[in-house]
Amino acid sequence: MFRSSFRQFVDKEVVAHVDQWERDGIVPRELYTAAGASGFLGMQVPEEYGGGGADDFRYNLIVGEELQRTGSGGVTLSLTLHNDICLPYFLSLCTEEQKQRWLPGICSGELVTAIAMTEPGIGSDLASMTTTALRDGDHYVLNGSKTFITNGINADLVIVAVKTDPTLRHKGMSLVVVERGMEGFERGRNLEKIGLHSQDTAELFFTDVAVPVANLMGTEGQGFVHLVQNLPQERLSLAASAVAAAQVAFEHTLAYVKERTAFGQPIGSFQNSRFRLAEVCTELDIAQVFVDRCIEALNAGELTADEAAEAKWWCTELHKRVVDTCLQLHGGYGYMLEYPIARSYVDARITSIYGGTTEIMKEIVGRSLGV
Ligand SMILES: Cc1cc2nc3c(=O)[nH]c(=O)nc-3n(C[C@H](O)[C@H](O)[C@H](O)COP(=O)(O)OP(=O)(O)OC[C@H]3O[C@@H](n4cnc5c(N)ncnc54)[C@H](O)[C@@H]3O)c2cc1C
Repeated sequence: MFRSSFRQFVDKEVVAHVDQWERDGIVPRELYTAAGASGFLGMQVPEEYGGGGADDFRYNLIVGEELQRTGSGGVTLSLTLHNDICLPYFLSLCTEEQKQRWLPGICSGELVTAIAMTEPGIGSDLASMTTTALRDGDHYVLNGSKTFITNGINADLVIVAVKTDPTLRHKGMSLVVVERGMEGFERGRNLEKIGLHSQDTAELFFTDVAVPVANLMGTEGQGFVHLVQNLPQERLSLAASAVAAAQVAFEHTLAYVKERTAFGQPIGSFQNSRFRLAEVCTELDIAQVFVDRCIEALNAGELTADEAAEAKWWCTELHKRVVDTCLQLHGGYGYMLEYPIARSYVDARITSIYGGTTEIMKEIVGRSLGV
């Protein structure tokens, strides 16, 4: 029932606008408020704060899968970043006062969220970050900059990873929430990307921003631990979205190869096409089983960091292989933007980089093996 009602929402509120949003380089804020009004934001948030009260990640999976059917990774990420990636921090780390202040707006879509870890000088090596938040009485003075921040233009609440003690690496890190309108908080341009065109990805600048201590998220000095605790869900969300996007690309391609003919026969009937499609179909089935198992583990509170890393790197690398194969099977038409596979191809490229690169994921898995 949830899938069917979300599909109706996507058909009514999203599908007709995707091309315009891709041209705009951003989704409108009304997408969030429309999704919030229909109950598609903050499904895990307890009802007393305006959420769905359903602590089950399968709802998030459905939202991601159905949005991928629009053929736009950018539109998908706008909502999955808010629901799957940022929300868990607000749910697990906020004080009662913070929950009352922020959760109702997160659920209604009036408060759009983002998370800012990456800086111009560091990405993978988070503990080397240089953005500082130094305590001064009842507030922190925040200085530094972040880049590549998803929802960076639309966001009202940005979870910013900072150093509250710049003399330390991991143990000097904390999380603070920076709000739209705080003095000294500026947004840079909406960055031009090769794909994810409807997604606003921005630089953020902080100059002597006075962030109240009441906006500290979690415990001072525990920022790295908080990230490590929440990143498995982020990585599973990205893995699930990758499989969903690849599945959509596969279905488009299957339809295409049945219609297009060469040498007097459908191109799908060449043995090479059949074998490549059989490989894609098999790998997608295997990936879906693993993603589903990880979601069950997440729901049971048992998803480990290394399982999430396995899912993230393998599913996103599969996504890239699948769209490459599918584009090849389209021939020259696959290179034309009017065919959905073209957008799928460019949108896929980032998935093995953001949320932790494939190499960093393999480091996590490798370390868990004791090597
Ligand atoms: C569209 C987009 C959206 C993004 N959204 C967000 C966001 O919302 N919030 C946010 O904080 N960040 C975001 N990012 C940033 C993203 O998470 C980083 O780009 C990513 O973590 C890699 O960091 P980097 O770009 O600095 O690459 P680097 O860390 O400089 O890495 C460059 C290369 O070196 C490799 N490498 C680095 N260290 C090692 C190692 N130890 N062993 C082997 N290889 C290594 C990497 O795997 C990579 O191939 C986004 C990026 C993009 C492009």
